[in-house]
Amino acid sequence: MKTFFTHALVVFALIFSPAHAFAKIAWEAPSEVSQGRGFIISFKNDAPFKGEVIWRKKKVPFSSSLQEANTNTAAKNDTPDDSQDDSQDDTQDDTQNVSTKNTYTAQVLLGMPTDAKGNHNLSVIMEENIDGKVQSSKASSVIKSLPVKWVSHNLKVEPKFVQPPQDLMARIKAEREQRAPIMANISPTPEWELPFKRPVNGTISGSFAARRVFNDTPKSPHMGTDMRGAIGTSIRSMAAGKVVLADHHYYSGNAVFVDHGQGVISMYGHMSSITVKTGDIVKKGQELGKVGATGRVTGPHLHLSLYIQGVPVDAVPFFKEDLVIVGGPTPEQARPPEPKQKNKQKK
Ligand SMILES: [Zn+2]
Repeated sequence: MKTFFTHALVVFALIFSPAHAFAKIAWEAPSEVSQGRGFIISFKNDAPFKGEVIWRKKKVPFSSSLQEANTNTAAKNDTPDDSQDDSQDDTQDDTQNVSTKNTYTAQVLLGMPTDAKGNHNLSVIMEENIDGKVQSSKASSVIKSLPVKWVSHNLKVEPKFVQPPQDLMARIKAEREQRAPIMANISPTPEWELPFKRPVNGTISGSFAARRVFNDTPKSPHMGTDMRGAIGTSIRSMAAGKVVLADHHYYSGNAVFVDHGQGVISMYGHMSSITVKTGDIVKKGQELGKVGATGRVTGPHLHLSLYIQGVPVDAVPFFKEDLVIVGGPTPEQARPPEPKQKNKQKK
């Protein structure tokens, strides 16, 4: 019995820790996620912790925050499954005559690429400070990518929308290079909170990841969502964060990139005007600019992109109270009929 116990401790000490030595950090990951969807890995513990998630070769750090202090008068009689060892120093816990149970949580947002197929490995490393020593544990799970049937469009457009003029190729390349480090940044502290704020109220006029064929030429998929809005409508930041780029680009026109931490970055394009500047700290719902028709567009709208550690995902499921991680792209909605006007202006 003793030998078995010792053996078990050696092998499983890092994974299944005795409750009196240090608590096991509970964590949850989904088993299935649709292509192009963002998803959450959540952690919970009764003491502070930190760690790292490794997903598709990217390392995403996390650290816990105190969720709430549940003062529970019944806790004294509510003995956990593993009997508590009183030998440890518990003087600091007995400052109140009712026991207080703290809950520490952390969340990490990850993205399933639109072209991901099959099973993908997720690893987590969790660290907890126990009696001045850092105890770490490792775990892993497999997440299956569910295929999605993407929307496809065949459009007849002016040639300039298919191929940009030759003299602009250098500019387009420079703009792509300007964006690359912004998209690759994974800052340690998450500023986002779910659900995200819908940046404009307008309905969806262009679905995420729609395949586009312009004048019989297949173009790269539409890695964002188009939302209707009249010119001048306020565009609100989906979450708190830092403006990491506010500039005019050939494709996106006046565009703002907001870094929400942990590699979660939102981008708002085609603005008529930008009302923030690079370096600004913004709150959730703060105005970033106004709806416009700048850049390569056929009419005014907001182009919204959401990147998670550089992976574009559908932003629309994030506006709902509960994030839905399985399903296809949010469908486009037909434009509601224009209200009838008696004095129709002639151009
Ligand atoms: Zn768009």
